[in-house]
Amino acid sequence: MALNYNGTIYRPPIEAYTLLLPVTEGCSHNRCRFCNMYKGIKFRMLSAEEIEAWLEEIRCVNGASCAAVERIYLVGADPFAVSASNLERVINLIKNFLPNVKVVSMYAAIRNIMSKTDAQLERLKNLGVNDLYVGVESGLEDVLKNLNKGNTVEDVRRQCDRLNRIGIRHMALLMLGAAGKNRGAENAIASAKLLNEIKPTSILINTMTAFKDTKLAEDVRDGKFIPAGETEILTEEKILIENLDLPDTYFWAAHSMDSVPIAGNLRRHRQEMIEILDDAIKNMDEELFNKTFKRNHL
Ligand code: SF4
Repeated sequence: MALNYNGTIYRPPIEAYTLLLPVTEGCSHNRCRFCNMYKGIKFRMLSAEEIEAWLEEIRCVNGASCAAVERIYLVGADPFAVSASNLERVINLIKNFLPNVKVVSMYAAIRNIMSKTDAQLERLKNLGVNDLYVGVESGLEDVLKNLNKGNTVEDVRRQCDRLNRIGIRHMALLMLGAAGKNRGAENAIASAKLLNEIKPTSILINTMTAFKDTKLAEDVRDGKFIPAGETEILTEEKILIENLDLPDTYFWAAHSMDSVPIAGNLRRHRQEMIEILDDAIKNMDEELFNKTFKRNHL
């Protein structure tokens, strides 16, 4: 079977060394105002034959080392949109080819968690589903609504709480600047409060950008959304870190979209990260920054 995958493959930067397996194409929502990652790509689950062909290819390329693979990352905007029974089939297929896989990680939207019962989540956990990447983006209700995320803050709280009860680890993706100009501090405090409640294993930071061909770019053009400047973005990040009460959580803000790359454990490296941000805020020249730092794509 010829191997085809429609669209760009995105995966969390911290999964750079994890084996990737395509499972879905496109995004089951595809309506967030800031996102152009899956534009024009119809959401679908790959057939069992296609997934098997990819696994054959992985075995062919990796040979005997397949036996040592313990972690796999399922590719797609939200492979957790797939029904629990289909996910079980995919995982059983994976285990035929990679018998020692213990962790099956992927992006999971809040609505994908909501659509599964506790019993289904429990079964998936027992099959190895863990480290779900969840797009939290902001702790402010009106901001989530404006972003058109398709879920509320309360939904995030409830669904992450279910994951915690069941014992599925989750990583929160957060977007600095999501509330726009003059609301950075408010967004930081609300987001920190939400994160403290949902207790993610890691927090992955990204910075909001009005990419071409997005509704957000139209909003910026029409003056409906005024983006925060870089000093405000960095101040928001600093306030966020100061208000996090998650000593064992890993904070990662070293995406190509983040102007000041920092990362560390919140117990051991909080102060160090705050000092780096303080220094960047103190020395920020916004005019020069805007001329020299470009956020072109995710
Ligand atoms: S941000 Fe995520 S959920 Fe929203 S449209 Fe993009 S891929 Fe889909």
